[in-house]
Amino acid sequence: MQIEHLNEARRQVEICNACRYCEGFCAVFPAMHAERAFSDGDITQFANLCHNCRGCYYACQYTAPHEFDLNLPAALAEVRRESWENYVWPKALARRFQTNAALFCSILAICLTCLILFVKIMDAEGDGFYAHLSHNAMIALFIPAFLLPIFGLGIGLRRYWQDIGGARIKWVHIKHAFASALALKNLSGGHGDGCNFEEQDRFSHQRRYAHQAIMYGFLLCFAATSAGTVLHYLLDLPAPYSSLSLPKLLGVPGGIMLTLGCGWMILLKRRSDRALGDAKAWHAEFGFTALLGSVAFSGLLLWIWQDAKGAETVLALHLGLVLAFFLLLPFSKMAHGFFRLAALIFDAQRQFKAQADS
Ligand code: SF4
Ligand code: SF4
Repeated sequence: MQIEHLNEARRQVEICNACRYCEGFCAVFPAMHAERAFSDGDITQFANLCHNCRGCYYACQYTAPHEFDLNLPAALAEVRRESWENYVWPKALARRFQTNAALFCSILAICLTCLILFVKIMDAEGDGFYAHLSHNAMIALFIPAFLLPIFGLGIGLRRYWQDIGGARIKWVHIKHAFASALALKNLSGGHGDGCNFEEQDRFSHQRRYAHQAIMYGFLLCFAATSAGTVLHYLLDLPAPYSSLSLPKLLGVPGGIMLTLGCGWMILLKRRSDRALGDAKAWHAEFGFTALLGSVAFSGLLLWIWQDAKGAETVLALHLGLVLAFFLLLPFSKMAHGFFRLAALIFDAQRQFKAQADS
């Protein structure tokens, strides 16, 4: 991790700890106020708790032109991105992708081209999608593309946990962290009026709602895929599934929410001030949100198109996007979901310990 970014975030955090004006804004400040001196692990933990809502920037009396020149959202955003680059395996790849939009697009283009060629040359037999690509070929392609990134992320999370000094995780910590993550409590601005992401010093809930549409949409799509797996392997009911089957009842609303949420998030991101986030990663973050939205949209398109002419091209397009999504998962903005959950679990541990000590 770049020492100057850690030191700059530490300088700003020390000023905040003396000021304490933003006490109730988000989980970062109570966690910060529990300490007097800040290790690199502490700074990394604050960075991963921060949602870049920008509330503290617009409330702050020490931003430029004040000589303190505070910009806590940007300082934490840089440390946050570097923490993922530093922890996730393989580190060399993680370093390249976070800020390299051209590399990001190249991987996407390669995945799409390969999948289109693959679907064209495969001579499959079956119903629905399996008429174009057999179930076994899909599994052979996607299982390694899914497991390898999960492995890289798992190593990253383990390193993160060691560096921040995390203790043994109990069920109550997980429950606390999930309650906070599912409600996106830290995007309420502390007072319930929302954050300042795209509206400058005006409060808005838009980012929170867009984020929730993405998160719940993604979870519904994941549940739909899991339901399909159970139907296929445990109940011997292979796809295609009817509109009233569980995979469709979960997947279609999930896909719609995910598509709309990503589109909404892109609009909000375009309205936001780049200087208050991680300016270096702006293009890659933008590209990843667009990729996630395209995965969902192409999935919906496939559902509508599945029996029509040209369905194999739509299938190849969708699978190519899914493949790129999986391969880029540990090196992209998607990593934040996993690291933030770990940060929230650690914060729950800190809160329970403080309660027990008092
Ligand atoms: S961001 Fe500014 S106002 Fe808020 S706690 Fe820090 S120094 Fe104080
Ligand atoms: S940007 Fe928002 S989430 Fe991050 S420290 Fe400031 S108030 Fe908290």
